[in-house]
Amino acid sequence: GVGLADVPVLPLDEAFALTAEFKADGCAQKVSLGAGVYRDEQGDPWVLPSVKKVRQQISLHQTPNLDHEYLPIQGSEPFLKLARDLILGESLSPKGNLTSIQTISGTGANHVGAQFLARHLHPKHVFISDPTWSNHHLIWTIAAPNVTRKTYPYYNAADRSLDFEGWVATLEREAVENDVVVLHACAHNPTGLDPTHAQWKFLAELFRRKKLFAFFDSAYQGFATGDLDLDAWAVRHFQEVLFGLEECPDHEEGPSGLCIAQSFAKNFGLYGERVGAFHLSLPPSTPTSGAYSQLLQLTRAEISNPPLFGARIVTTVLSNLELRSQWEQDLLEMASRVRNVRGLLRKEIEHRLGSGSWSHLESQTGMFSYTGLSEAQVLRLKNMHHVYLMRNGRASLSGVNESNVKYIAEAVSEVVS
Ligand code: PMP
Repeated sequence: GVGLADVPVLPLDEAFALTAEFKADGCAQKVSLGAGVYRDEQGDPWVLPSVKKVRQQISLHQTPNLDHEYLPIQGSEPFLKLARDLILGESLSPKGNLTSIQTISGTGANHVGAQFLARHLHPKHVFISDPTWSNHHLIWTIAAPNVTRKTYPYYNAADRSLDFEGWVATLEREAVENDVVVLHACAHNPTGLDPTHAQWKFLAELFRRKKLFAFFDSAYQGFATGDLDLDAWAVRHFQEVLFGLEECPDHEEGPSGLCIAQSFAKNFGLYGERVGAFHLSLPPSTPTSGAYSQLLQLTRAEISNPPLFGARIVTTVLSNLELRSQWEQDLLEMASRVRNVRGLLRKEIEHRLGSGSWSHLESQTGMFSYTGLSEAQVLRLKNMHHVYLMRNGRASLSGVNESNVKYIAEAVSEVVS
């Protein structure tokens, strides 16, 4: 028809719809294991102590002349350098042939990356893990409609393991030169399963041989293990093997590049400030100037310039030794608390059920657990027990604490019995 009368109504985004339902639930014992946000032992949002200190420093009282001018289109240069060094490491980062822009958190980085690659790399396919953060599919559908989306198997439901063989076989069989493969840098969402170092090494060789473009989504650096370097290991290994080693001379052609979508939402607790970066790493002989100018244009058309406040906080923390070490402690505190409640919840569930292993609660890494609960069980948890998690059985473990762990274990035991 004419006009907008026939615009189809889409279903609500599951994660945000679940949060709204949770908020509307009047039950005092309700538990949210839905949204991927950190909660402290009291179940409250946590402003990191390092971030609090910076907020005091940049208060009106301390810095009355602080202005609110536009950032350049590419964002804050000091922020971008610190962000790049954080993910690639201070020794590897300066050696790379890199170009970076500031983005609207990790989502914006995924989006601008998809747009840029669709227009300039022209991949035939983009490969996305099955399962994945559902926004990967949406972003590639909207930002890169001419690129065919494919999935690679990631998860063996039978033994709750990583389906590495299926993953490799799919890329060997179906991927062609310049295809993009979206990789979770660490703390895979939603399964909490990451490849081992040996498996990453194997993948890097496969990417080199088949000339595949690695698109690293790094939303949890420091959150998986509490160690920033360990959580960046895969990204750094790819960078080193593909574009950093002397044994891989320019004339021995490898992939066209790799890229990193970097989010500071989780590791700084700056969810709503939308701080992120997109880094493009090219072979040593490829000029970055064309790509950079295109990234600037895409950014200009979309947001003109990225937001200032969150980038100011991250820059201040990362460039000050004392604040940085406080931040590393903050990260460790978040990662350790989640690791601790994983163990508690496992113990409480196994104790109640008396049989069957819930060891996957402990062996998975990051904020999430892929519980293995069925959709019907998830529904029953919500309707009968006011415990909220995603339909696919993904639970955000930051919602667990010492005061509600027994209640959750009781509820889970009831629905699986
Ligand atoms: N990638 C993955 C895998 C994520 O889990 C998230 C956060 N849910 C993001 C990217 C980006 O989030 P944000 O836009 O808040 O940085």
